[in-house]
Amino acid sequence: MTRDIKKLSSDVLDILVVGGGIHGATIAYHVAMAGYHAVIIDKNDFCGATSANSLKILHGGLRYLQHLNITRMRHSITARREMMHLASHLVEPLPCMMPLYGKGLRGKKVMQAALFLNDFIGWDRNHDLPAGLHIPKGHIVSKKKCLEVIPDLETEDLQAASVWYDVLAVNTERVVLEYVLQSVNHGAKAANYVEATGVEKGADDLYHVTVLDKLSQQKHLLKTRFIVNASGPWFEDFLHVPQESVKKQKWALALNVVSRKKIFADYAVALEGQSKYEDKDALIKRGKRLYFFVPWRGYTMIGTEYEESSVNPDCLQVKREMIQNMVDEINAIYPPAQLKYEDISFFHAGLLPMRGKLEDSNIQLEKNSTFFEHKESNFNRVLSVKGVKYTTAPYIAHEIVCFLKKQCPPVLSKEKQNESSSYAGQWSANESALRGMLEKKYGQRALQILQFLRAEQDDDIWIDKDAQLLKAEVNYLISEEMVCKLSDIVFRRTGLGTADCPERKLLVKLSDFMGKILGWDEARKEEEREEVLHRYSPLTCKEA
Ligand SMILES: Cc1cc2nc3c(=O)[nH]c(=O)nc-3n(C[C@H](O)[C@H](O)[C@H](O)COP(=O)(O)OP(=O)(O)OC[C@H]3O[C@@H](n4cnc5c(N)ncnc54)[C@H](O)[C@@H]3O)c2cc1C
Repeated sequence: MTRDIKKLSSDVLDILVVGGGIHGATIAYHVAMAGYHAVIIDKNDFCGATSANSLKILHGGLRYLQHLNITRMRHSITARREMMHLASHLVEPLPCMMPLYGKGLRGKKVMQAALFLNDFIGWDRNHDLPAGLHIPKGHIVSKKKCLEVIPDLETEDLQAASVWYDVLAVNTERVVLEYVLQSVNHGAKAANYVEATGVEKGADDLYHVTVLDKLSQQKHLLKTRFIVNASGPWFEDFLHVPQESVKKQKWALALNVVSRKKIFADYAVALEGQSKYEDKDALIKRGKRLYFFVPWRGYTMIGTEYEESSVNPDCLQVKREMIQNMVDEINAIYPPAQLKYEDISFFHAGLLPMRGKLEDSNIQLEKNSTFFEHKESNFNRVLSVKGVKYTTAPYIAHEIVCFLKKQCPPVLSKEKQNESSSYAGQWSANESALRGMLEKKYGQRALQILQFLRAEQDDDIWIDKDAQLLKAEVNYLISEEMVCKLSDIVFRRTGLGTADCPERKLLVKLSDFMGKILGWDEARKEEEREEVLHRYSPLTCKEA
């Protein structure tokens, strides 16, 4: 996948996808698979915004049973299965546990029935998946087992615990990238750091979209029949639709923290928060919001906390007090955690669409991801996506393809690239020591890295052995995965910095290596490092 902005505008497009988060990426893949001539652009790197900030749970939809929303459950189950097929090396089943207190609607019997229904509705959840990814059935476990997993839990009225399985997307950023790479394999073109800045309907009845290449500061014009606006929290911005014709969307800032403390081994644990929360649409009301403690890479991700926000998404900032409040809330929910501010190594923050009215400080997010056609005559072939869940993005993409096929069936033949040549090769005995590490990160693409490894001239193959980062990996990422900045590698290609701040000496080695390939001087290298370190503010980074 190479970044060639001139090529994007070389012919008329069927579909321009604006935004390379999970929605844009899945849409680009589905439309390219359907045979449309598509381009996907992102004003920053792919998966640089909300999609990089999720709790990484691909839901099966057990929680939607509370609303008896079977349709939404089915959408989640089928969408999740597609992601598991496409990025099988990046996902794993996630056992989840929730303590059960009291009787009646919140007790053991009702939960047993819910787990049965959940498995029944998801009867095909494992269809065609490799055995290692099969999602087991849910069940009830004893109070004793519950206390083994969640020691020192409040035991008054504790009856048992429910166990069910969701899926953890271990690296959400690479799942998005996998969709972008696959869309390119199916004939789409892609470019990061390209911003759509304006749209006009031309006399030729095509949309003329002005885009800015943020790396060269040059403007280009793309002509397209349809636009899919998948720009997340920016979705009301780039079209410049007249204000009176759009109902101003309200947004909630959603926050997770990542703790260096491993709080519970093996299970994601769901515990009730302190303050009252009423889910207006739920038939079975819990009265409290659930917090998830998700074990991940030896850390614990905890979330999700919400507050209303009217901040410009370009200026989204998390203040120290927000993180401190969350630490306090976590200690109140589960006092044995004894979490301190200094234990927090990273956080996830993003804007999600919420419903209009804020009642009793209850944030009600929009229930379903949707897309809509613009009614204004100038924008009648523009579809805007409003996404609330990472999990269901492939379902929205599928719906968009169905919609487009009715409007304008694809006329171009697919230009599928031949992948087999790039995957040619076998691991020799010497190389097989690296195979497990590379396949875990890159799946089948590890074979492409092997070609770079074989071409390596230097005896020292590592950029940093402790960080398990090879020179061949970085060469591959720059050459084949459109890496333009240090932050692309640290956050969105390798996950080196997505749990904790990397040591400065690693950033120096990596920026020196990248600088040689990309022609960076010392000032540029320092700028790149500062950009990476800024992402951890207001946390305390490890010094070295
Ligand atoms: C804290 C938190 C926890 C969450 N947990 C979960 C979870 O566990 N499971 C789950 O399923 N969902 C979860 N979600 C929800 C999920 O992350 C989002 O619904 C989803 O990622 C939204 O994706 P998107 O593609 O719509 O938006 P984004 O990921 O924000 O993508 C939009 C992209 O558009 C680009 N863009 C904007 N304007 C332009 C322009 N003019 N030109 C070019 N590009 C542009 C941006 O740079 C951005 O990359 C969570 C969200 C948060 C914030």
